[in-house]
Amino acid sequence: MENKNFDVIIIGGSYSGLSAGMSLGRSVRNVLIIDNGKPCNRQTPHSHNFVTHDGKTPAEIAKLAKEDVEKYKTVQFYNGTVVKTSKVNDGFEIETSSGEKFYTKKIILASGVKDLMPDIPGFAECWGISVIHCPYCHGYEVKNEITGILSNGEMAYEFSKLVFNLTKNLTLFTNGKAALSKEQIEKLDQNKIILNEDEIKEIKHEEGSIQKVVFKNGKEIQLQALYAKIPFEQNVNVSDDLGCELTEQGFIKVDMMQKTNIPGLFACGDNVTMMRSVANAVAQGNFAGAVVNKELSDEEF
Ligand SMILES: Cc1cc2nc3c(=O)[nH]c(=O)nc-3n(C[C@H](O)[C@H](O)[C@H](O)COP(=O)(O)OP(=O)(O)OC[C@H]3O[C@@H](n4cnc5c(N)ncnc54)[C@H](O)[C@@H]3O)c2cc1C
Repeated sequence: MENKNFDVIIIGGSYSGLSAGMSLGRSVRNVLIIDNGKPCNRQTPHSHNFVTHDGKTPAEIAKLAKEDVEKYKTVQFYNGTVVKTSKVNDGFEIETSSGEKFYTKKIILASGVKDLMPDIPGFAECWGISVIHCPYCHGYEVKNEITGILSNGEMAYEFSKLVFNLTKNLTLFTNGKAALSKEQIEKLDQNKIILNEDEIKEIKHEEGSIQKVVFKNGKEIQLQALYAKIPFEQNVNVSDDLGCELTEQGFIKVDMMQKTNIPGLFACGDNVTMMRSVANAVAQGNFAGAVVNKELSDEEF
């Protein structure tokens, strides 16, 4: 790529990054979108809860989004992985894993997060297929089925209420001693939600469709769906590279304008919020693009 200097570099070219790219392309900004093709929902067969695209595959939605953004000729695309971001003079230097360097006035981080799979054989294979991260995205399709929740503590209790709305055939697996109050356990019992504290050995499945949970004590339970809340990490290390602040939960800290604590560095999509959905990622990307364009316009006027 000949041109190395851009108004804006967007790191991550999935839903949020492409949406930011559209706002900026329509503002005739010189933009580079760098992406390494690993959106977090890539294993899920169908994406739901995004109007106009409900039930399409994640790849189909991303393909349509990219086709839209490609119409704007000041937006360029680069397949690769960003490994380092640094502050230079009046902007930033961005380095890819192949050693290529690009320069930009502003960065939009739309790099999502990496979900960290627990050490349970079968879990990763079922992730996004029959192991579900969110009731709004996939709960309707498995409503009334024999369902489990793999979680513990306050999060498990809150999640139980949401999932109980979709199925009454529900077990909460805490995979070890439950970190719940006496009142919470009583409430689960009142709603006939079974509490199971056995340690999980394995998830048996057929091509990602869960069949049963096998426990270390030899017991087994048949299941048709399992909700799970799992930890994550950021895909781009902007906290070490640039001193970008993270929240206690590990999200990039942004204000109402998608601005981080580093001037010129913006973030949007899954990397800033627990409200993980395609619709939300698109909305935040669209807004981040507009805010960055406004900032550039102010500076140039
Ligand atoms: C299993 C699963 C199923 C889901 N199902 C649904 C659903 O049905 N409906 C719904 O609305 N939401 C669903 N979601 C949530 C939805 O997928 C996310 O909210 C959405 O993908 C967030 O978009 P994003 O652009 O912020 O991040 P992502 O889509 O995760 O994209 C991040 C992009 O950044 C790129 N990237 C990361 N690091 C780098 C780097 N260093 N260099 C270059 N590129 C990089 C990645 O390759 C990726 O393309 C699901 C999530 C999961 C995990």
